Amino acid sequence: MQTVEELKNKIAELEAKIAKMEQASSDYNTGTKLLIRRDLELSRANEKLQKVDEIKSNFISIVAHQLRTPLSGIKWTLSMLLGGDMGELNNDQKTFLMKSFESNARMITLVNDMLVADGIQSGRVHYGFKHTDIVDLMDNVLFEVSPQANKRNIKIEYKNKFENLPQAYVDPETMRAVLQNLLENAIKYTKDNGKIEIDVKKENDHLLVSIADNGIGIPKEQAKDVFARFFRAKNAIKQETDGSGLGLYIAKTIVEKNGGKIWFDSAENKGSTFYFTVPLQESH
Ligand code: ADP
Repeated sequence: MQTVEELKNKIAELEAKIAKMEQASSDYNTGTKLLIRRDLELSRANEKLQKVDEIKSNFISIVAHQLRTPLSGIKWTLSMLLGGDMGELNNDQKTFLMKSFESNARMITLVNDMLVADGIQSGRVHYGFKHTDIVDLMDNVLFEVSPQANKRNIKIEYKNKFENLPQAYVDPETMRAVLQNLLENAIKYTKDNGKIEIDVKKENDHLLVSIADNGIGIPKEQAKDVFARFFRAKNAIKQETDGSGLGLYIAKTIVEKNGGKIWFDSAENKGSTFYFTVPLQESH
C-alpha cells in the first residue's frame, strides 16, 4: 500500500511531467507558427522580387526601344553627310564623321543585344522548332560575317564535307543568332592572319558543332564567368575590341532552350574552341 505522502509525490511528479509536455507542445506550436510565418514571408519576398524583376525588365526594354529611334536617326544623318549629300567633305571631316558613325553603330548593337537578352530571359522569345540543316544555316551566317574575316585576312574553313549529316531539330531563327555570336567572337578575338575551323559531327542523338580559333584565348582564372551577362575578360578589353558581354549569355540561353549544351576549351594566347550540341529529334 502506498502512503498518502507517496501518492502526493507521484501526483506532483506527474504534474511536473504534464507541465513539461505542455511547455514542449507550446514550444512546438510556436515553432510551427514561426515556420509558417517564415514561409509566408519568403513567398511574399519572392513575389516582390519577381515584380521588381518584371519592372526592371520593362524598364530595360522601354529604354532600349526609346534609344533605338534616335540612334537610327543619327545613323541616317551621318550616312547622308558621309555620302556627300550635304556637300563634299574634306578628309579630316570624313575621318571624324566615320568615327561617330562607328560609335553610333556600336550603340545600336549594344541596345539590340540588351533587347534580345531581356526578351530571352523573360521568355518573350518564341521558339518555332523544326528539322533544320545546320550546315545550311552556318553557310548563311558565314556569308554575312566573312567580310569581317577577309578584312583581317582570317581564314575560315570547314573541317570536312559534312555528307549524310542528319538535320537538327531546332528553332532556326534563334540558332542563327548562336552561330552568328560564336563566329563573330571567333573573328573578333583572333589576330590578323589567323585561322578558324568549323566542324559538325553526329554523336548519338545530337549534332556536335565546334568553332575553333587560334586567337587570344580566355584567361584560365576568368573561364568560369564567360557565360555571365556583361562579362568581358581582361585580355578582350585590353585589345579594345567592341562588345557588350551579352553574346555568350544569349548563346547559352538559346542553346539550352533548344535542348542542347554549350561549353568551351581555351588557352590564353593559343586559342579557343566553342562547342555546342543540338538535338536531332523533338526533346522539349
Ligand atoms: P562580347 O560582346 O564581349 O564579345 P560575349 O558574351 O560574346 O561578349 O563574350 C564574353 C567574353 O568572352 C568576351 O568579352 C571575351 O572576353 C570572351 N570570349 C568570347 N569568345 C571568345 C573567343 N573566341 N576567344 C577569346 N575570348 C572570347
